[in-house]
Amino acid sequence: MTRDFATDPEVAADLDRQARTEADRSRTRETSTVIDSTTAATWPCLYCKTAVPVPRTAVEMRDTFNRALRARGQRPLEDTAVCSSCYAREEARRVELGEAARTRCAQLVRVITEGSVPPADSPIVRELRKLGHPDVDGLLKSLRERKSPGSTRGRGEI
Ligand SMILES: [Zn+2]
Repeated sequence: MTRDFATDPEVAADLDRQARTEADRSRTRETSTVIDSTTAATWPCLYCKTAVPVPRTAVEMRDTFNRALRARGQRPLEDTAVCSSCYAREEARRVELGEAARTRCAQLVRVITEGSVPPADSPIVRELRKLGHPDVDGLLKSLRERKSPGSTRGRGEI
């Protein structure tokens, strides 16, 4: 790209947008430093439909966000909250699912380190990716290097 950035109309328009966004952020920052915890509404819990008291600041933030969504032609947010007991239950469930995924990842890694290196598109590799293994490609590369005929490392060495 050899175009002059300063005179490129797309760049100028983008810089202008960034400046306006920054101005909006500073205005939001000013108003969000004062949190009004007075209950301004009650919204149904997303899960159990119990009425949840909602502080004024949250209602105002929802209003601001919905104005932005409407301006973009998108559907506004529904008035829902999460009650404290449903929040605790869902958080525990999220942690449990994370532990289950880590345990399954460890099982799959054990299987592929003990057997032959599976192809990148095999079901076991796809499942590892789906479970969120942080470095499937690095794992396969390491196993291929370790198991290649010219490797000086023995089985079980890392
Ligand atoms: Zn609830």
